[in-house]
Amino acid sequence: MEEGNGGGGGSGAAAGVRVGAESSEPKRASVRAMPHEECVEGIRSALKNPTVRFLRERMEKAGCQVWPRLIQAATCSDAGGYASGHGIKVCCNHMAFQDEITQVLIHELIHAYEDCVAKNLDWKNCAHHACSEIRANHLSGDCHYKRELLRGFMKIRGHEQDCVKRRALMSLKNNPYCSETAAKDAIEAVWDICYNDTRPFDRAP
Ligand SMILES: [Zn+2]
Repeated sequence: MEEGNGGGGGSGAAAGVRVGAESSEPKRASVRAMPHEECVEGIRSALKNPTVRFLRERMEKAGCQVWPRLIQAATCSDAGGYASGHGIKVCCNHMAFQDEITQVLIHELIHAYEDCVAKNLDWKNCAHHACSEIRANHLSGDCHYKRELLRGFMKIRGHEQDCVKRRALMSLKNNPYCSETAAKDAIEAVWDICYNDTRPFDRAP
């Protein structure tokens, strides 16, 4: 089966493997999504965010394709997603605040950067995908303690790493090539290398 982010040619009608920033955490049940137009405007504002600009600059320097074609406002099942050849989707039906849009965009841009810069990145390979999720969740600040407090998780020592693992595992669950056991093993196997690989940032935010 052809896949959106397998890197090969062609693209079937199949949804394919998606590398997504999950939104399956129990936080949004009662929060209304913003109107689509507002979300599109929010994406435009997010492009001015310093971290987003920094990632764009690094991608341009590396000869990667950047917007406008890279990013689309969409209706989809997670918070966002990235797939090779398809670019970044921000799932506007899940966005309630500007901050969420910016956050999703930074997370997915890290995947896009990696996909462009890393040679032979294979999303079907659990270890490759695990590495990218570890980096995206760590470097985007998805696991910053303020966000964890909003999700109802207490800040305790070492919590940031637990959060990165938890969220990486959730994203890997969407990858049909990684069973839960394989996903857990992959996360552990690549953890030290990928958690400490902060490119293109000098260090984690
Ligand atoms: Zn991700």
